Amino acid sequence: MTKDDLRRILARIDGRGYKAYKDIEGSYDFGAFTLYVDHAQGDPFASPSLVRVRVPQSMAQLPSSLFANRVRRVALQDFLARQVAGAMRHVTRGHRGTGKSGLMFIDEGGQEVLERTAIVVRNEWVEARLQVGLPAAGRTVLGRQAEEMLCRELPQIVDRALLWRNLPQREAQRFVECVENQEHIRARLDELHLIAFVADGSILPRASGATDQPMPAAQAVLFKSPDTLRTTIELPNSPSLIAGMGVPKGVTLIVGGGYHGKSTLLKALERGVYPHIPGDGREYVVTSRDAVKIRAEDGRRVEKVDISPFIADLPYGRSTTAFSTDDASGSTSQAANIVEALEVGAKVLLLDEDTSATNFMIRDARMQALVAKAHEPITPFVDRVRELYERLGVSTVLVMGGSGDYFDVADTVIMMRDYLPLDVTADAKRIAQSLVTQRKVETPQPLQAIAHRAPLPSSFDPSRGRREVKIDAKAVDLILFGSDPIDLRCVEQLVDFSQTRAIGYAIHRAVEDFMDGKARLRDVVDALERLFDERGLDVLDPFHRGEEHPGNFARPRRYEIAAAINRLRTVRMQQERH
Ligand code: ADP
Ligand code: MG
Repeated sequence: MTKDDLRRILARIDGRGYKAYKDIEGSYDFGAFTLYVDHAQGDPFASPSLVRVRVPQSMAQLPSSLFANRVRRVALQDFLARQVAGAMRHVTRGHRGTGKSGLMFIDEGGQEVLERTAIVVRNEWVEARLQVGLPAAGRTVLGRQAEEMLCRELPQIVDRALLWRNLPQREAQRFVECVENQEHIRARLDELHLIAFVADGSILPRASGATDQPMPAAQAVLFKSPDTLRTTIELPNSPSLIAGMGVPKGVTLIVGGGYHGKSTLLKALERGVYPHIPGDGREYVVTSRDAVKIRAEDGRRVEKVDISPFIADLPYGRSTTAFSTDDASGSTSQAANIVEALEVGAKVLLLDEDTSATNFMIRDARMQALVAKAHEPITPFVDRVRELYERLGVSTVLVMGGSGDYFDVADTVIMMRDYLPLDVTADAKRIAQSLVTQRKVETPQPLQAIAHRAPLPSSFDPSRGRREVKIDAKAVDLILFGSDPIDLRCVEQLVDFSQTRAIGYAIHRAVEDFMDGKARLRDVVDALERLFDERGLDVLDPFHRGEEHPGNFARPRRYEIAAAINRLRTVRMQQERH
């Protein structure tokens, strides 16, 4: 069918009941592109209709150099989604009619650049996946308005945002190259013996606590590495060299007075596991992809986690080698968060005193004197942090303005002063020697390898009411899996609503295909990553019937997928004994 056929159908159903929109499902040749109406919504208040536009490369002419490898392709796709969103804002008239009538959306990203399903670039074509609110007055089809949207606005959007000749070409190039530079730095961290890199000139603070936008450069103190930690890295694209602070492997403390920028630096490191858009201010803050933020999270459920390295001998002899609770405390939740992160492969832990349980972090000499070890279940983090590195190769970056007991165990001490980092490692070591801490190291047993757990597929129930599978992301930090909410408010490195949506479906997929009661959680997330690498995120669509709109998914990390599984309150696991 052609554009004219679509026009005819819309003219015919004009004035009829909303269900008549089902008649436009199908594909239409528009000459420059093909329009696919994959799903027409049932009423003007329902989720918008799913449409795709596919433009052959003979028309689009996107330079193949901009999608020559995986990193470049993800970056270009992300860039194009933003361009389509911009064109929509410019071209569409917007709301016209009842409910979502007249609205058009594409799943564009925020400050992070993520692999997402909104745009697909192939050698043969480029495709944009959109949501369209088909217009109605009440429940009556507004055929003319629909024609304006689909036959006039949509072609203009394609023209502006998907044809290379009309795109801001230098900006596209710069975007792709910037993302490639970031991934290049990430790939080099290991051999440089670093876990993160923060470029000179970066803007770490945000405009406010309510936004992810950078603080205006005129207000912000630009990052500047201490000379002793400065590293220069060659880049594949302009600029050919970049200098900044290398955060070494091992144990790194961030100290300094209140309000001097400690948490802002840590937050930037947390987000640095993802690439950022040029202009974010953190586009050259790059962290190991295996860095996981750890915090206290009282009230969470915990299922058979061996937290005994940190907490043992609870009152009345309760075991902690397979610790389960429906209501964890600050310290037990923080211990579980660490062990669960290690279980699926974390190599770097990021902690902030602001969100940590004090009794989990420190236990000073006076408290040791008053409360004997025999009556204190907690082995504080200060007594494990070196072992984590020396036995398991897991580095830690820790914001700790409140206790100098950590000087003894740190490899690197960075002091934030007036928002600038100073390398005070030597001073801290000198102080640790002259002002000897009176506290004793309390490690009843050396740190062991992590005990793996196998999730039991029977403990997942995706059904709700009459639906066999009903999974919704309600917000970036809330999934409704069947009837069971998964609270992700403390999973701070989850940044995009579409990642959350992907996690909901990924769990279902994993239950169906990868869990058998024996497969370890670690193998399950491995299998999901392989699936995404091989087949892309489109496979997550539970209704996937081949070439159709897969919905809006962005790629989550293994750590956030595992975190969601661990927070499903019904989940049951089988623990392997060492
Ligand atoms: P701390 O953790 O040391 O108490 P924060 O990191 O929370 O301090 O920062 C305190 C305030 O200073 C925040 O409002 C933050 O936005 C601001 N800030 C942080 N870094 C900078 C900077 N480089 N330039 C300007 N303002 C900053
Ligand atoms: Mg702070």
